[in-house]
Amino acid sequence: MTVAVYPGSFDPVTLGHMDIIERTAQMMDHVIVGVLQNKSKTPLFSAEERVRMLEKITSRIKNVEVQSFDGLLVDFVHKCRANVIVRGLRAITDFEYELQMAQTNRVMAPDIDTIFLTTNLRYSYLSSTTVKEIAFYHGRLEEFLHPFVAEQVRQKVEDYYQSKN
Ligand code: ADP
Repeated sequence: MTVAVYPGSFDPVTLGHMDIIERTAQMMDHVIVGVLQNKSKTPLFSAEERVRMLEKITSRIKNVEVQSFDGLLVDFVHKCRANVIVRGLRAITDFEYELQMAQTNRVMAPDIDTIFLTTNLRYSYLSSTTVKEIAFYHGRLEEFLHPFVAEQVRQKVEDYYQSKN
């Protein structure tokens, strides 16, 4: 049985992430989306909120589950009894960092392989950071996000502006 972990911040999950999740679910027996908690940057959404959004929009895909984690990715992968890490590659700019991470993880855990999926060209420009910038300037989000996620982002931005008044 091939179990894959797809780790990331997912702050918030975009249609680009969803494309990777759907394609991975077709290839693997089971997929665990791992939501990273311990990022140095302060996220817009808490780990619990990010998990909840991912659960909601992946509920129709039967072999996908969502969990949050902190600490080393390879420890989380072992805990999940998974053997593959999946990452998305958008452009050459992703490559250097991803290669370094994959090689480091391979030294720490030789039993785990990292595989890369090139992004759907439709979403190759898309990042959570860009989406947040658009949201803070009240731009339209439906091109980039599932409607449920778009609504949550709008709400979060509104709460932020309210708290400033
Ligand atoms: P991280 O902070 O770990 O990079 P992200 O949530 O930004 O977390 O990304 C998680 C994974 O999804 C990474 O492998 C990233 O390359 C990939 N990814 C990000 N945006 C896209 C996209 N638009 N299309 C496909 N993959 C993406």
